Amino acid sequence: MKRIKQEVNDFLHRSMDSHVRIAVTGLSRAGKTAFITSLVNQLLHTSTHHQLPLLSATRDRRVIGAKREPQTNMMVPRFAYDEAMLQLQGNEPNWPEPTRDVSEIRLALKYKPNKKSKKLLSNTATLHLDIIDYPGEWLLDLPLLDMDFHQWSQSQFTALSGKRLELAKPWLEELDKVDLQAEVDEHLLQSVAQSYTQYLHACKEHGLHWVQPGRFVLPGELEGAPVLQFFPCRFDPEHKAARDSNLAMMKARYHEYQTKVVKAFYKHHFSTFDRQIVLVDCLQPLNTGYESFMDMRGALEQLMHSFRYGRSSIVKRLFAPRIDKVLFAATKADHVTPDQHSNLVSLLQQMVHPAWQTASFENIEMNCLSMASIQATQTGYIANGEQSIPAIQGISLSGEPMTVYPGEVPKKLPSADYWQSKGFEFTAFKPMVNQQDDPLPHIRMDKALEYLLGDKLK
Ligand code: GDP
Repeated sequence: MKRIKQEVNDFLHRSMDSHVRIAVTGLSRAGKTAFITSLVNQLLHTSTHHQLPLLSATRDRRVIGAKREPQTNMMVPRFAYDEAMLQLQGNEPNWPEPTRDVSEIRLALKYKPNKKSKKLLSNTATLHLDIIDYPGEWLLDLPLLDMDFHQWSQSQFTALSGKRLELAKPWLEELDKVDLQAEVDEHLLQSVAQSYTQYLHACKEHGLHWVQPGRFVLPGELEGAPVLQFFPCRFDPEHKAARDSNLAMMKARYHEYQTKVVKAFYKHHFSTFDRQIVLVDCLQPLNTGYESFMDMRGALEQLMHSFRYGRSSIVKRLFAPRIDKVLFAATKADHVTPDQHSNLVSLLQQMVHPAWQTASFENIEMNCLSMASIQATQTGYIANGEQSIPAIQGISLSGEPMTVYPGEVPKKLPSADYWQSKGFEFTAFKPMVNQQDDPLPHIRMDKALEYLLGDKLK
């Protein structure tokens, strides 16, 4: 009798114990590694520190503690938390290595539920939390599933204007040397593909974020694989490609990329996520200029397509997505003075607004906030004649102490002439020295956690 009772209890606990998979994404250098490192670090300190007042469960002192657990998905690399902390906690702290591939880390959070149904069973409950890190560039590939090789090639040539066209010149020259109908020349194809990939990297370096295929710039474990060696081609779709021609090979690789890379990511990873946070560095394109800013806006809109679950959407047609909440977070808010934080949020809202409307229509809850995963500056005031103006203080990447007023963040999408008249000067800072036993300093990590997890800890 006692044994049966125990088994029933175990079963009920198992089914009551919740599990949530939170995915973290954003374009490269948006701050994913810093965010996940800080998230894990904050939660691991919940039993000893009270640094998360905006997370209701910790504010009410209902979180007992968190610990790391071995991840269940053994096919995905582990998120390098310890390595990141080693970088951040030295005498001369440094930023950890940025995201290059998909990775995961798992935590168990023990808490006192306040929901009646959970309380009936036990005084404590456990939330198992999987945190998944992946490059936002991979989401830029979704439209490829709806385009054949000719359509995709056309779309790439159409996009070639302004700075893009300038950067594309070396690979366009190489492309001219390829006879698409000639017999396959692996060497030549590899070299042109390399030149195309370099063009995509050059776009990123010049602040242009919309790059396709996204996997080419962050290949992860596929680095060097032939499936990442194709490029847009000019050809007549009515004219059939000879079987062993260069064109046939390009089409075959494109098809392989669609199924084995893009579809596989959505099937094995994306469709398992419950919640999603998209990190956006709005300050970098503000520093770079109009073209970069508009390009990032375009890339974000593309990225939003992955959250459109209407009946006719590609995602819904191919998979059974289950994300019910998406949070957009403007990262690195510690680069600007606190009076600018609300402008940062409204700028981000304007960047994601068009796609946002469609998605909220389809029952996904969304929100925007500004935050700093790891606060690297302190705020204060500097005297300016009679007045004192808000300022931030930190250590520059070259090790110099700095006090600056970085400027105003525009509240609305700036027009092209904005950069002529104003211009922005957001500097990068080193992380601050932190005591080993203290959690990392942050701005509104707890607000982000409340949105992503709050209801799961009720
Ligand atoms: P990822 O490519 O998205 O993984 O980007 P990272 O997390 O590696 O962040 C890229 C860079 O942005 C870091 O090396 C830092 O210089 C900066 N950064 C990220 N998060 C913060 C933050 O919260 N505050 C500040 N000041 N800088 C940050």
